[in-house]
Amino acid sequence: RENRIEKTKTVCTYCGVGCSFDVWTKDRQVLKVEPQSEAPANGISTCVKGKFGWEFVNSEERLTKPLIREGDAFREAEWEEAYDLIVNKFKEEKEKNGPDSLAFITSSKCTNEDSYVMQKLSRAVIGTNNVDNCSRYCQSPATMGLWRTVGYGGDSGSITDIEKAELVIITGSNTAEAHPVLATRVKRSQKLHGQKVIVADLRKHEMADRADRFVQPKAGSDLVWISAVTKYIIDQGWHDSEFLEEHVNGIDEYMESLAPYTLDYAEEVTGLTKEEMIEIATSIHEAETTCFLWAMGITQHGGGSDTSTAISNLMLVTGNYMKPGAGTYPLRGHNNVQGASDFGSMPDRFPGYEKVHDDAVRERYEKGWGVDLPAEPGLNNHEMVEAIHDGNLNMMYLKGEEMGIVDSNANYVQEALEKLDFFVVQDIFFSKTAEFADVVLPASPSFEKEGTFTNTERRFQRLYQVFDPLGDSKPDWKIIMEIANRLGGDWNFEHPSDIMDEAASLAPMFAGVSYDRLEGYDSLQWPVAEDGTDTPLLFKDRFPFPDGKAKLFPVEWTKPLEMGEEYDLHVNNGRMLEHFHEGNLTYKSEGITKKTPSVFLEVSPELAEERGLEDGTVVRLTSPYGNVKVPCLVTDRVKGKELYLPMNDSGEGAINYLTSSHADKDTDTPAYKEVSAKMEVL
Ligand code: SF4
Repeated sequence: RENRIEKTKTVCTYCGVGCSFDVWTKDRQVLKVEPQSEAPANGISTCVKGKFGWEFVNSEERLTKPLIREGDAFREAEWEEAYDLIVNKFKEEKEKNGPDSLAFITSSKCTNEDSYVMQKLSRAVIGTNNVDNCSRYCQSPATMGLWRTVGYGGDSGSITDIEKAELVIITGSNTAEAHPVLATRVKRSQKLHGQKVIVADLRKHEMADRADRFVQPKAGSDLVWISAVTKYIIDQGWHDSEFLEEHVNGIDEYMESLAPYTLDYAEEVTGLTKEEMIEIATSIHEAETTCFLWAMGITQHGGGSDTSTAISNLMLVTGNYMKPGAGTYPLRGHNNVQGASDFGSMPDRFPGYEKVHDDAVRERYEKGWGVDLPAEPGLNNHEMVEAIHDGNLNMMYLKGEEMGIVDSNANYVQEALEKLDFFVVQDIFFSKTAEFADVVLPASPSFEKEGTFTNTERRFQRLYQVFDPLGDSKPDWKIIMEIANRLGGDWNFEHPSDIMDEAASLAPMFAGVSYDRLEGYDSLQWPVAEDGTDTPLLFKDRFPFPDGKAKLFPVEWTKPLEMGEEYDLHVNNGRMLEHFHEGNLTYKSEGITKKTPSVFLEVSPELAEERGLEDGTVVRLTSPYGNVKVPCLVTDRVKGKELYLPMNDSGEGAINYLTSSHADKDTDTPAYKEVSAKMEVL
């Protein structure tokens, strides 16, 4: 293959849109990225990350050998030595303190197959349900809101459906930077079909600029205006009685629960005017179809699940389900946030979201895996940190996750990692988190392995291997299988397709998924029946509850966390277009860093004048939990005492040195958006 130009189909790893494209390469050099018209989510589009963000694959900083701690340093080791150490430690711990003193965290950047084997290692080999993934940090509340109301925690339709909607409402989502190609589709639909767009956000981002109506509710108040709009629609008699009668339960109790959400009350709490809320209600009433899009601006709050529930309630009341161009679209952040949970890396769910304490389900897995399985749900990521601090969790195996930076209250999390008796980190680079490890295992990125990802619209897509693994690095599934077999497992997966076949044989939701059906640009949207029939429109004529009816679920507003008067600035946070998450990959890609070399703190012109700030002024922000140091950018995208700090930094500017351990009350997703700080000019 030397000197040959090759073309390989892959799937982007940078966001939940799941763009797929051909990568042209020569030896280990990426020549170009070429999207194809048959790519289901993106067609011929990509964004800057998908096009230029791949130099990290050949970075000299890649991990190419296992590392073993010796005192304060690490030394290179061979795989056998690393495996022996891990296996002996895990065995000793299990014998001494039982399986629940170990925990496993998989990554929503890795493949479905990687996630499946991680939860199988945890459950079937170690014997604990202490397994989770980083959707706990972002989208679990959206899933909870949908489970409660419509039964499935996934997008109602396809990305192309969003283009068909007459009205698109976007809240708590910086779509143009976080899901760029999806935003492009909305922009195109605005232009070609006159699609109406309403944006509700703290920050005047690109989609807010392009919206027909932009409103700025106070931080953490979304449940109130959404419920007030719902109540107003019902009071006007604009609800869809026929749809409610035929497809929805719990109407009377829900209507009663809306009583407090008058326009007057909502105006006082949210800062939106009555006229703005009436305009939103009228727009929904006048549109034949409405799609509601949301992301972490909604979910990462103490009441994130409840606000997600309120969104789904509104869509049910107005009959905006069961038709193309309508429904709820929680926009998944990482490329495989959907898939990591779908494939069972959750403390209470098997693959396909079946519950671990359901005897019939557990028996199916016990038969399939040939072992007894634990029935009690395990710890989620958030609880794992507390359990380490409490001395109840001693060992952890973490893959593909910069937990010490991306989990909230980073200082507290790092203190927990320091306390672990034994910590295995599996990644492609040595990270801040790896500093706390005892063993660091070199994994292969997406270009060096095969597998599948599931994007935000529940779509399975295959990625093919572009390069051989660098040095001694290996695909995650292979490393996990080799550890599992040394611990007594009898796994014989020769290819990720074998893993998918096993998952499909056990999880009814994926019964018809196979690599043959996912050849090239072919794709499937779950649920997938045994004959391969998939489900682009999630709800056709029934909801997945025993009587086929959805449920209106009453919710109450949870006030956002207050950190004290001293911390007088609200620090909103989120993504920026050019960088991915904490930046481990994109800061190693020159094509990206040339354009945007670092993060910056957005400050309003009013605040700049008050505090004497200019572009480039370096400030320290301090919250009760830590501090960050960042340069300022003065912009009218934010107003008053509202700041915006992109999350794309793992150094002095990492947002989670400011955030707290406060979390969504129903899912333990950190309330990243409820953070205040005081400012000092340096
Ligand atoms: Fe990748 Fe998302 Fe950009 Fe598509 S929109 S190229 S999936 S980062």
